[in-house]
Amino acid sequence: MKIRSIDKVKNLSGRAVFLRVDFNVPLEKGRVKEDHKIKAGLETIEFLVAQGARLIIATHLGEPKGLDRAYSIKPVAARLRTLLKRPVKFLSFAEIEKIRAAVAKLEPGGIVMLENLRFNQGEYDNNPAFAKSLASLADIYVNDAFAVCHRDQASISAIKKYIPAYAGLSLAKELAALNKILKPKKPLVIVMGGAKINTKAPLIAKLFPSASQILIGGALANNFFKYQGWEIGHSLFDKDSVAIVKKFFSGRKLNAKIKLPLDVVVRNQRGKTRVVSPSAVGRDETILDIGPKTIAVYAAEIRLAKTLVWNGPMGKFEEKSFKHGTLAIASLIAARSSGRAYGLVGGGETVEALKLSKMEEYVDWISTAGGAMLTYLGGGKMPGLKGLLS
Ligand code: ADP
Ligand code: MG
Repeated sequence: MKIRSIDKVKNLSGRAVFLRVDFNVPLEKGRVKEDHKIKAGLETIEFLVAQGARLIIATHLGEPKGLDRAYSIKPVAARLRTLLKRPVKFLSFAEIEKIRAAVAKLEPGGIVMLENLRFNQGEYDNNPAFAKSLASLADIYVNDAFAVCHRDQASISAIKKYIPAYAGLSLAKELAALNKILKPKKPLVIVMGGAKINTKAPLIAKLFPSASQILIGGALANNFFKYQGWEIGHSLFDKDSVAIVKKFFSGRKLNAKIKLPLDVVVRNQRGKTRVVSPSAVGRDETILDIGPKTIAVYAAEIRLAKTLVWNGPMGKFEEKSFKHGTLAIASLIAARSSGRAYGLVGGGETVEALKLSKMEEYVDWISTAGGAMLTYLGGGKMPGLKGLLS
């Protein structure tokens, strides 16, 4: 599978490029609060500017219903201007003809940035007419927004019908990283935790044949405990998980590739905590972390890996008393990455936890595109990539 990336295209000078980015950043008091997504997009923008392309940059922000000033791109355009140290003209108006007039005035290397794409219902609906109007602004379409590639939306999906489409540089890099997991150096060890088993099950199923071990933690493990008829007290679990979990058992025996926690940290209704076997949890207790024996067993597996994937915290790491399992796993994975194994860590909360370990620089690839990453690795539909791969 090869990705058609924009850096292979010649003669971009003077061409109008519609660049779809994911600058869905948090705002606070009308300013960008955290800008790593904008920084991740700079490479493609700088490349296109250096080639003399005329740039129309567009993103979504949040999930607004109609025009809602709280979700305006204006502060995002301002931050982009600061980071690029060049003019970025923000176009607040939505009429396509006004946008076209502004684009017509662009010099090679010039940049305009559009208002939030999701102010238009047509964006959500993958509306062909809306996609066509966006496409009519440019000669070439570039997608650099991996995090939304699992969405069937106009600026991601339908737009590619109308103009030649290419991948941006950060999208190409993200795919190269994820493809290392799909064709892994073995042993491949997967660490899965967090909640929402239905979003994680496809990934477990897809990587199962090539994985040597799948180490389960977090609330995800509770579903396996419950399936075996064990008391889990007030612990988080998903009542629809039975059908999913069942596949990993033959009779009462769990598949040997899957490991479950041997001990867990629980808290009772009076706030008292203890470490206990998962088969001995009390009715008034809640499972909130993996225990020390589990960490030791998982550590031994992680140390054998040549490829490592981690998604989902091992416990409720946001609470001080229950962060140890997650932080231990974070350090173990980071220490094994960068050379000894190829290490990939993904997911919103997982990346937050990794940062707490202060070892993120050792991990080979950090993916903040939670949903898109799980969908891609799980073999799900990626409308945003259709037509970009050959
Ligand atoms: P990610 O966003 O990294 O993919 P998830 O969204 O699946 O991860 O899950 C993260 C959340 O799961 C965290 O906020 C964490 O507190 C919670 N969590 C993990 N284990 C437990 C548990 N045993 N009980 C309650 N919450 C848990
Ligand atoms: Mg999450």
